[in-house]
Order: sequence, then C-alpha cells, then structure tokens
Amino acid sequence: MSAESTPTSQADCLFCRIVAGEIPATIVHETPNTTAFRDIDPQAPTHVLVVPKRHVPTLAELADVSPEELAEVVRAAGEVARMEGLERGYRAVYNTGPDAQQSVFHAHVHVVGGRPMTWPPG
Ligand code: 5GP
Repeated sequence: MSAESTPTSQADCLFCRIVAGEIPATIVHETPNTTAFRDIDPQAPTHVLVVPKRHVPTLAELADVSPEELAEVVRAAGEVARMEGLERGYRAVYNTGPDAQQSVFHAHVHVVGGRPMTWPPG
C-alpha cells in the first residue's frame, strides 16, 4: 500500500481523535507527522505515547507505508526522553498484536522512564 492510498485518519480510532483534538490529552511534543501525549494509566514517572498522525494499526505497517514517518516517530521518542530528563535511560516499547497486549490499534511507541526497568518484561 502506498502512503498516498492510505487513509490518514479513522473516525472511530481513539488515537486519531486525540491527534485531531477531539478527545483531550496532555500533549507534550508535536512534529509535522507525530503527536506525543501522556498515557492515561502511567506505568512509570514518565509514560508518554508517541503516535504517527497517520492512521496505521502497527509500527511495522508504518515502516511499509512511510519509512520517513517511522523515523520521525523514533526521533520524536528520543526528543521526548530528552525533554523529560531521562538521561539515565528509558524503555521504548511497541506492543504488536494480542499476545503483546496491544489494546489500541493505532501505531504508538510507549516512552517509559524515570525509574529502573527490569528485564525480561512481563
Ligand atoms: P497498548 O496496550 O495498545 O500498547 O497501549 C495503549 C495505551 O493507551 C495504554 O497504555 C493505555 O493506558 C493508553 N490509553 C488508553 N486510552 C487512553 C486515553 O483515552 N488517553 C490516553 N492518554 N491514553 C490512553
């Protein structure tokens, strides 16, 4: 699928509606193709979701449709970490599919930090 043929927004998508300003969220960072906002149920002192403005269900699909926009998401995640003062490190997570507990099918990266992380993840 080409970037041109992909619908950029989906009316019934929670994150499309946050990007459009139709549902309130605490926006912390924005670029031409990304929006970053605080997770409603934070799992660490910093928990920010970086999403592409384009509606695609997973980051892997964003890589197919627009590698440039995927790079913009990754760069935005790094900028959010810097703005949040996460010099000691952070976890960037993208859950993909039901086994990984993906619950919102609009691509997003969790930027989680501000406390030591454990490995392996649960
Ligand atoms: P997933 O489970 O798909 O990897 O991540 C979805 C994330 O979206 C969860 O961490 C969840 O807390 C967050 N979330 C769900 N609904 C809302 C909402 O209405 N506003 C915000 N800011 N985050 C939400």
